[in-house]
Amino acid sequence: MSTYRDHAIVLGSHKFGEADRVVVLLSQTHGKIRAVAKGVRKTKSSIGARLEPMSHVDLSLRSGRELDTVDQVRLIHPHQNLRDDFDRLRQGLAMVEAVNKVTPDKDPVPHLYELLSRALHALNERNSPLMLAAFFWRLISIEGQTPQLDECVGCGESGELSTFDVVEGGAHCASCGSGLPVSSRALSILRDILGGRMNDALALEESPAVIEVNNLAMEAMEAHLERRLKSLGVFDRHL
Ligand SMILES: [Zn+2]
Repeated sequence: MSTYRDHAIVLGSHKFGEADRVVVLLSQTHGKIRAVAKGVRKTKSSIGARLEPMSHVDLSLRSGRELDTVDQVRLIHPHQNLRDDFDRLRQGLAMVEAVNKVTPDKDPVPHLYELLSRALHALNERNSPLMLAAFFWRLISIEGQTPQLDECVGCGESGELSTFDVVEGGAHCASCGSGLPVSSRALSILRDILGGRMNDALALEESPAVIEVNNLAMEAMEAHLERRLKSLGVFDRHL
């Protein structure tokens, strides 16, 4: 059995057998890994405590036929503030859950690892009404589905855009007009999030436009997960 080492973020875990746990990890170089942490439910296991969802860890693993095995874990960052604050906990868990859903096993996705580690770190440092929404928009964009914000996704018109269609992935002019109503302020916040002005967006206080961007992000993430599940389904059939 070969052993390897990697940095990873814990996406989730579930009980396995009498005393073990299967941990789902997003690693820096090996992609998503499922690994058994042996004996962690038996006693007060220190390995178990380091493998909480959202923790950033440095691990030694042994590859197995179906599941790898966790040998050693060093905690790089517990992201403790996420656990002490219910609102941040909710957002952090939604981040790891979304990444878990869009990532197939054992396919290296260093860009997603980078995005998730930065987002959890930022959320641990401070809260913002747009933290989760900004993460969802960046995730959708990094997956190749950057929304079209400067011209109508229906007809290409660059005049006033008044609705946003999460399925088509962009804004619409009044005459094409499918999707949810969107204000020009909300579109401008979206441009900040996707155009490298993240700090401007994260500094905003709650406002009707911020709520719009949040609602659109939740809808867009849901539509993206549906697309992703379909594409993963197609992929499975070709195996
Ligand atoms: Zn149009």
